[in-house]
Amino acid sequence: MNATPSVLLASTLPPMLKGPLAARFRCVDYAGAADQDGLLAREGATVRALVQGGGGVSPPALLDRLPALELISVFGVGYDGVPIDYCRARGIRVTNTPDVLTDDVADIAVALVLMSARGLVAANAALMAGDWARGTGTLTTRLAGKRAGILGLGRIGKAIAERLAAMRMDIAYTGRSAQPVPYRYVPDLAVLAAEADFLIVACPGGPATRNLVDARVLGALGAKGTLVNIARGSIVDEPALIEALAAGRLRGAALDVYAHEPDVPAALRALPNVVLLPHVGSATQETRAAMADLCRANVERWFDTGTLLTLVPELR
Ligand code: NAP
Repeated sequence: MNATPSVLLASTLPPMLKGPLAARFRCVDYAGAADQDGLLAREGATVRALVQGGGGVSPPALLDRLPALELISVFGVGYDGVPIDYCRARGIRVTNTPDVLTDDVADIAVALVLMSARGLVAANAALMAGDWARGTGTLTTRLAGKRAGILGLGRIGKAIAERLAAMRMDIAYTGRSAQPVPYRYVPDLAVLAAEADFLIVACPGGPATRNLVDARVLGALGAKGTLVNIARGSIVDEPALIEALAAGRLRGAALDVYAHEPDVPAALRALPNVVLLPHVGSATQETRAAMADLCRANVERWFDTGTLLTLVPELR
Protein backbone atom coordinates (compact mmCIF):
# COMPACT_ATOMS: atom_id res chain seq x y z
CA MET A 1 0.00 0.00 0.00
CA ASN A 2 1.20 3.56 -0.77
CA ALA A 3 2.53 5.60 2.17
CA THR A 4 0.35 8.51 1.04
CA PRO A 5 -3.29 7.42 1.40
CA SER A 6 -5.38 7.27 -1.77
CA VAL A 7 -8.63 9.24 -1.70
CA LEU A 8 -11.35 8.63 -4.30
CA LEU A 9 -13.13 11.80 -5.43
CA ALA A 10 -16.60 10.42 -6.20
CA SER A 11 -18.17 13.81 -7.01
CA THR A 12 -17.00 16.89 -8.84
CA LEU A 13 -15.61 18.99 -5.99
CA PRO A 14 -14.83 22.73 -5.90
CA PRO A 15 -11.14 23.76 -6.16
CA MET A 16 -11.24 25.01 -2.53
CA LEU A 17 -11.66 21.37 -1.47
CA LYS A 18 -9.99 19.48 -4.29
CA GLY A 19 -6.78 21.57 -4.09
CA PRO A 20 -6.01 20.97 -0.40
CA LEU A 21 -6.94 17.28 -0.69
CA ALA A 22 -4.59 16.87 -3.66
CA ALA A 23 -1.79 18.62 -1.73
CA ARG A 24 -1.95 16.06 1.03
CA PHE A 25 -3.32 12.83 -0.50
CA ARG A 26 -3.08 10.78 -3.65
CA CYS A 27 -6.41 11.77 -5.20
CA VAL A 28 -8.15 9.40 -7.62
CA ASP A 29 -10.56 11.45 -9.73
CA TYR A 30 -13.41 9.01 -10.21
CA ALA A 31 -16.01 11.71 -10.99
CA GLY A 32 -13.87 13.13 -13.80
CA ALA A 33 -12.67 9.82 -15.27
CA ALA A 34 -13.70 8.88 -18.82
CA ASP A 35 -13.19 5.18 -18.02
CA GLN A 36 -14.47 4.79 -14.44
CA ASP A 37 -14.47 1.00 -14.62
CA GLY A 38 -10.82 0.91 -15.75
CA LEU A 39 -9.89 3.41 -13.02
CA LEU A 40 -11.47 1.21 -10.35
CA ALA A 41 -9.70 -1.88 -11.74
CA ARG A 42 -6.34 -0.06 -11.52
CA GLU A 43 -6.78 1.96 -8.33
CA GLY A 44 -9.75 0.54 -6.39
CA ALA A 45 -7.71 -1.71 -4.10
CA THR A 46 -5.55 1.21 -2.86
CA VAL A 47 -8.38 3.61 -1.96
CA ARG A 48 -8.71 4.26 1.79
CA ALA A 49 -11.08 7.26 1.80
CA LEU A 50 -13.86 8.54 -0.46
CA VAL A 51 -15.05 12.15 -0.71
CA GLN A 52 -18.44 12.94 -2.23
CA GLY A 53 -20.81 15.89 -2.52
CA GLY A 54 -23.97 16.18 -0.43
CA GLY A 55 -26.12 15.21 -3.40
CA GLY A 56 -23.71 12.44 -4.46
CA VAL A 57 -24.53 8.76 -4.35
CA SER A 58 -22.06 5.98 -3.49
CA PRO A 59 -23.87 2.70 -4.17
CA PRO A 60 -22.70 -0.62 -2.68
CA ALA A 61 -21.64 -1.71 -6.19
CA LEU A 62 -19.02 1.09 -6.15
CA LEU A 63 -17.98 0.53 -2.53
CA ASP A 64 -17.56 -3.23 -3.22
CA ARG A 65 -14.70 -2.24 -5.56
CA LEU A 66 -12.90 -0.39 -2.74
CA PRO A 67 -11.91 -3.21 -0.35
CA ALA A 68 -9.52 -1.04 1.72
CA LEU A 69 -12.05 1.79 2.24
CA GLU A 70 -12.06 3.16 5.81
CA LEU A 71 -13.84 6.50 5.52
CA ILE A 72 -16.50 8.37 3.49
CA SER A 73 -16.35 12.13 3.99
CA VAL A 74 -19.43 13.94 2.66
CA PHE A 75 -19.12 17.56 1.52
CA GLY A 76 -22.56 18.43 2.88
CA VAL A 77 -24.77 17.61 5.86
CA GLY A 78 -27.14 15.26 4.00
CA TYR A 79 -25.68 11.78 3.63
CA ASP A 80 -28.72 10.06 2.11
CA GLY A 81 -26.49 9.07 -0.84
CA VAL A 82 -24.44 6.81 1.45
CA PRO A 83 -25.66 3.25 2.24
CA ILE A 84 -25.33 3.45 6.03
CA ASP A 85 -26.21 -0.18 6.84
CA TYR A 86 -23.65 -1.36 4.29
CA CYS A 87 -21.01 0.94 5.83
CA ARG A 88 -21.82 -0.27 9.35
CA ALA A 89 -21.44 -3.89 8.24
CA ARG A 90 -18.02 -3.14 6.70
CA GLY A 91 -16.84 -0.83 9.49
CA ILE A 92 -16.58 2.17 7.14
CA ARG A 93 -16.88 5.50 9.01
CA VAL A 94 -19.11 8.20 7.51
CA THR A 95 -18.62 11.88 8.28
CA ASN A 96 -20.37 15.05 7.04
CA THR A 97 -20.43 18.84 7.54
CA PRO A 98 -23.21 19.68 10.03
CA ASP A 99 -23.76 23.10 11.69
CA VAL A 100 -21.54 25.21 9.42
CA LEU A 101 -24.31 25.53 6.79
CA THR A 102 -27.34 25.81 9.08
CA ASP A 103 -27.80 29.60 8.93
CA ASP A 104 -27.48 29.83 5.15
CA VAL A 105 -30.00 27.07 4.48
CA ALA A 106 -32.46 28.57 6.98
CA ASP A 107 -32.04 31.94 5.24
CA ILE A 108 -33.03 30.33 1.93
CA ALA A 109 -36.11 28.74 3.53
CA VAL A 110 -37.20 32.17 4.77
CA ALA A 111 -36.43 33.68 1.36
CA LEU A 112 -38.66 31.04 -0.27
CA VAL A 113 -41.49 31.79 2.17
CA LEU A 114 -41.15 35.53 1.45
CA MET A 115 -40.78 35.13 -2.32
CA SER A 116 -43.87 32.95 -2.48
CA ALA A 117 -46.12 34.85 -0.06
CA ARG A 118 -45.24 38.32 -1.29
CA GLY A 119 -45.01 37.52 -5.01
CA LEU A 120 -41.51 38.98 -5.15
CA VAL A 121 -40.33 37.16 -8.27
CA ALA A 122 -43.26 38.44 -10.33
CA ALA A 123 -42.93 41.94 -8.82
CA ASN A 124 -39.24 42.11 -9.74
CA ALA A 125 -39.94 40.82 -13.26
CA ALA A 126 -42.73 43.36 -13.78
CA LEU A 127 -40.51 46.27 -12.78
CA MET A 128 -37.64 45.04 -14.94
CA ALA A 129 -40.04 44.79 -17.88
CA GLY A 130 -40.97 48.46 -17.40
CA ASP A 131 -44.49 47.64 -16.23
CA TRP A 132 -44.58 49.62 -12.96
CA ALA A 133 -46.52 52.51 -14.46
CA ARG A 134 -49.31 50.06 -15.37
CA GLY A 135 -49.74 49.12 -11.69
CA THR A 136 -47.95 47.08 -9.07
CA GLY A 137 -49.85 43.83 -9.54
CA THR A 138 -52.27 42.01 -7.28
CA LEU A 139 -52.15 42.21 -3.50
CA THR A 140 -50.19 39.42 -1.82
CA THR A 141 -50.22 37.52 1.48
CA ARG A 142 -49.26 38.84 4.93
CA LEU A 143 -46.94 36.54 6.91
CA ALA A 144 -47.33 37.83 10.50
CA GLY A 145 -49.93 35.64 12.19
CA LYS A 146 -49.77 32.88 9.55
CA ARG A 147 -48.98 29.30 10.56
CA ALA A 148 -45.73 27.54 9.65
CA GLY A 149 -45.49 23.75 10.06
CA ILE A 150 -41.94 22.40 10.03
CA LEU A 151 -41.24 18.76 9.11
CA GLY A 152 -37.93 17.96 10.86
CA LEU A 153 -37.03 20.34 13.66
CA GLY A 154 -33.29 19.66 13.63
CA ARG A 155 -30.43 22.13 13.30
CA ILE A 156 -31.83 23.75 10.15
CA GLY A 157 -35.49 23.36 11.20
CA LYS A 158 -34.79 25.20 14.47
CA ALA A 159 -32.95 28.00 12.65
CA ILE A 160 -35.97 28.35 10.33
CA ALA A 161 -38.33 28.38 13.30
CA GLU A 162 -36.34 31.16 15.02
CA ARG A 163 -36.43 33.29 11.89
CA LEU A 164 -40.13 32.78 11.19
CA ALA A 165 -41.01 33.36 14.85
CA ALA A 166 -39.17 36.70 14.61
CA MET A 167 -41.49 37.47 11.66
CA ARG A 168 -44.34 36.77 14.11
CA MET A 169 -45.50 33.58 12.45
CA ASP A 170 -47.03 30.79 14.54
CA ILE A 171 -44.71 27.74 14.60
CA ALA A 172 -45.58 24.05 14.92
CA TYR A 173 -43.49 21.03 13.97
CA THR A 174 -43.42 17.30 13.50
CA GLY A 175 -40.73 14.65 13.70
CA ARG A 176 -40.28 11.26 15.29
CA SER A 177 -40.45 12.74 18.79
CA ALA A 178 -41.38 15.89 20.70
CA GLN A 179 -38.56 18.19 21.79
CA PRO A 180 -38.15 20.70 24.65
CA VAL A 181 -38.75 23.73 22.41
CA PRO A 182 -41.21 26.64 22.57
CA TYR A 183 -43.08 25.36 19.51
CA ARG A 184 -46.13 23.10 19.30
CA TYR A 185 -45.49 19.42 18.50
CA VAL A 186 -47.97 17.78 16.14
CA PRO A 187 -47.21 14.04 15.89
CA ASP A 188 -49.10 13.48 12.62
CA LEU A 189 -47.71 15.08 9.44
CA ALA A 190 -51.12 15.27 7.72
CA VAL A 191 -52.59 17.06 10.75
CA LEU A 192 -49.64 19.49 10.75
CA ALA A 193 -50.24 20.11 7.02
CA ALA A 194 -53.97 20.64 7.56
CA GLU A 195 -53.20 23.31 10.17
CA ALA A 196 -50.39 25.05 8.26
CA ASP A 197 -50.31 27.90 5.77
CA PHE A 198 -46.69 26.97 4.97
CA LEU A 199 -45.44 23.40 5.30
CA ILE A 200 -41.64 23.53 5.41
CA VAL A 201 -39.64 20.36 4.76
CA ALA A 202 -36.36 20.21 6.73
CA CYS A 203 -35.86 16.51 7.58
CA PRO A 204 -33.19 14.23 6.04
CA GLY A 205 -33.71 12.39 2.75
CA GLY A 206 -33.23 8.63 2.37
CA PRO A 207 -35.44 5.53 2.49
CA ALA A 208 -37.16 6.47 5.79
CA THR A 209 -38.57 9.73 4.42
CA ARG A 210 -39.10 8.85 0.74
CA ASN A 211 -42.39 10.43 -0.48
CA LEU A 212 -43.36 11.28 3.11
CA VAL A 213 -45.06 14.35 1.66
CA ASP A 214 -47.50 12.46 -0.57
CA ALA A 215 -50.86 13.22 -2.18
CA ARG A 216 -52.62 12.80 1.17
CA VAL A 217 -50.37 15.31 2.95
CA LEU A 218 -50.58 17.74 0.02
CA GLY A 219 -54.36 17.35 0.08
CA ALA A 220 -54.37 18.22 3.78
CA LEU A 221 -52.21 21.31 3.12
CA GLY A 222 -54.77 22.24 0.50
CA ALA A 223 -55.62 25.37 -1.45
CA LYS A 224 -54.69 27.63 1.50
CA GLY A 225 -51.23 26.06 1.76
CA THR A 226 -47.76 26.45 0.30
CA LEU A 227 -45.11 23.73 0.33
CA VAL A 228 -41.52 24.85 0.96
CA ASN A 229 -38.74 22.29 0.54
CA ILE A 230 -35.09 23.00 1.35
CA ALA A 231 -34.26 19.42 2.41
CA ARG A 232 -34.34 16.74 -0.31
CA GLY A 233 -36.50 16.23 -3.38
CA SER A 234 -36.97 12.55 -2.48
CA ILE A 235 -39.14 13.51 0.53
CA VAL A 236 -41.90 14.90 -1.71
CA ASP A 237 -43.94 12.92 -4.25
CA GLU A 238 -43.06 15.27 -7.12
CA PRO A 239 -45.71 14.06 -9.64
CA ALA A 240 -48.40 14.40 -6.93
CA LEU A 241 -47.09 17.89 -6.13
CA ILE A 242 -47.30 18.97 -9.79
CA GLU A 243 -50.80 17.54 -10.09
CA ALA A 244 -52.02 19.34 -6.95
CA LEU A 245 -50.48 22.65 -8.06
CA ALA A 246 -51.86 22.40 -11.61
CA ALA A 247 -55.35 21.58 -10.32
CA GLY A 248 -55.32 24.50 -7.86
CA ARG A 249 -55.57 22.10 -4.92
CA LEU A 250 -52.41 23.67 -3.47
CA ARG A 251 -51.75 27.43 -3.22
CA GLY A 252 -48.11 27.19 -4.22
CA ALA A 253 -44.70 25.60 -3.85
CA ALA A 254 -41.30 27.15 -3.20
CA LEU A 255 -38.48 24.68 -3.73
CA ASP A 256 -34.69 24.48 -3.54
CA VAL A 257 -34.49 20.71 -4.11
CA TYR A 258 -35.97 18.22 -6.58
CA ALA A 259 -36.42 14.49 -7.10
CA HIS A 260 -33.94 14.20 -10.01
CA GLU A 261 -31.51 17.13 -9.84
CA PRO A 262 -30.56 18.95 -11.95
CA ASP A 263 -33.64 17.93 -13.95
CA VAL A 264 -36.70 19.93 -12.97
CA PRO A 265 -39.84 18.72 -14.77
CA ALA A 266 -41.06 21.10 -17.48
CA ALA A 267 -44.57 20.74 -16.05
CA LEU A 268 -43.30 22.16 -12.74
CA ARG A 269 -41.38 24.99 -14.39
CA ALA A 270 -44.47 25.96 -16.41
CA LEU A 271 -46.67 26.56 -13.36
CA PRO A 272 -47.42 30.14 -12.29
CA ASN A 273 -47.64 29.37 -8.56
CA VAL A 274 -44.08 28.12 -7.96
CA VAL A 275 -40.75 29.64 -6.94
CA LEU A 276 -37.84 27.41 -7.96
CA LEU A 277 -34.20 27.73 -6.90
CA PRO A 278 -31.36 25.46 -8.13
CA HIS A 279 -30.30 23.88 -4.79
CA VAL A 280 -28.52 26.97 -3.46
CA GLY A 281 -29.18 26.43 0.28
CA SER A 282 -25.53 26.42 1.35
CA ALA A 283 -24.11 28.24 -1.68
CA THR A 284 -22.29 31.18 -0.10
CA GLN A 285 -18.53 31.65 -0.27
CA GLU A 286 -18.22 31.65 3.51
CA THR A 287 -20.23 28.51 4.09
CA ARG A 288 -18.77 26.51 1.23
CA ALA A 289 -15.28 27.38 2.55
CA ALA A 290 -16.26 26.21 6.04
CA MET A 291 -17.76 23.01 4.60
CA ALA A 292 -14.60 22.37 2.55
CA ASP A 293 -12.42 22.90 5.66
CA LEU A 294 -14.47 20.47 7.73
CA CYS A 295 -14.69 17.85 4.98
CA ARG A 296 -10.90 17.97 4.44
CA ALA A 297 -10.11 18.17 8.17
CA ASN A 298 -12.06 14.97 8.79
CA VAL A 299 -10.01 13.08 6.19
CA GLU A 300 -6.71 14.47 7.52
CA ARG A 301 -7.62 13.77 11.13
CA TRP A 302 -8.63 10.22 10.30
CA PHE A 303 -5.24 9.43 8.77
CA ASP A 304 -3.27 11.46 11.37
CA THR A 305 -5.00 10.34 14.58
CA GLY A 306 -7.68 7.75 13.76
CA THR A 307 -10.37 10.12 15.04
CA LEU A 308 -13.02 12.32 13.36
CA LEU A 309 -14.54 15.72 14.08
CA THR A 310 -18.01 14.44 13.15
CA LEU A 311 -19.46 10.96 12.76
CA VAL A 312 -23.03 10.44 11.52
CA PRO A 313 -25.39 9.50 14.40
CA GLU A 314 -26.27 6.03 13.05
CA LEU A 315 -22.61 4.94 13.38
CA ARG A 316 -21.87 6.37 16.83
P1 NAP B 1 -30.69 17.32 11.54
O1 NAP B 1 -30.15 18.28 12.55
O2 NAP B 1 -30.30 15.90 11.62
O3 NAP B 1 -32.28 17.46 11.58
C1 NAP B 1 -33.13 16.60 10.95
C2 NAP B 1 -34.47 16.59 11.68
O4 NAP B 1 -35.37 15.73 10.95
C3 NAP B 1 -34.39 16.08 13.09
O5 NAP B 1 -34.95 17.04 13.94
C4 NAP B 1 -35.23 14.81 13.14
O6 NAP B 1 -36.05 14.86 14.28
C5 NAP B 1 -36.08 14.90 11.87
N1 NAP B 1 -36.25 13.58 11.28
C6 NAP B 1 -35.31 12.65 11.04
N2 NAP B 1 -35.86 11.56 10.49
C7 NAP B 1 -37.17 11.81 10.37
C8 NAP B 1 -38.27 11.06 9.89
N3 NAP B 1 -38.10 9.80 9.43
N4 NAP B 1 -39.49 11.64 9.91
C9 NAP B 1 -39.65 12.88 10.39
N5 NAP B 1 -38.65 13.63 10.87
C10 NAP B 1 -37.43 13.10 10.87
O7 NAP B 1 -30.30 17.78 10.07
P2 NAP B 1 -30.06 19.28 9.54
O8 NAP B 1 -28.65 19.65 9.72
O9 NAP B 1 -31.11 20.17 10.11
O10 NAP B 1 -30.30 19.04 7.98
C11 NAP B 1 -31.58 18.61 7.51
C12 NAP B 1 -31.49 18.25 6.04
O11 NAP B 1 -31.42 19.43 5.25
C13 NAP B 1 -30.26 17.46 5.60
O12 NAP B 1 -30.41 16.07 5.86
C14 NAP B 1 -30.15 17.77 4.14
O13 NAP B 1 -30.76 16.77 3.36
C15 NAP B 1 -30.90 19.08 3.98
N6 NAP B 1 -30.01 20.17 3.51
C16 NAP B 1 -30.30 20.85 2.36
C17 NAP B 1 -29.46 21.87 1.93
C18 NAP B 1 -29.75 22.67 0.70
O14 NAP B 1 -28.80 23.18 0.10
N7 NAP B 1 -30.98 22.85 0.30
C19 NAP B 1 -28.30 22.17 2.65
C20 NAP B 1 -28.04 21.46 3.81
C21 NAP B 1 -28.91 20.47 4.24
P3 NAP B 1 -36.50 13.51 15.03
O15 NAP B 1 -35.22 12.78 15.33
O16 NAP B 1 -37.24 13.97 16.24
O17 NAP B 1 -37.37 12.78 14.07
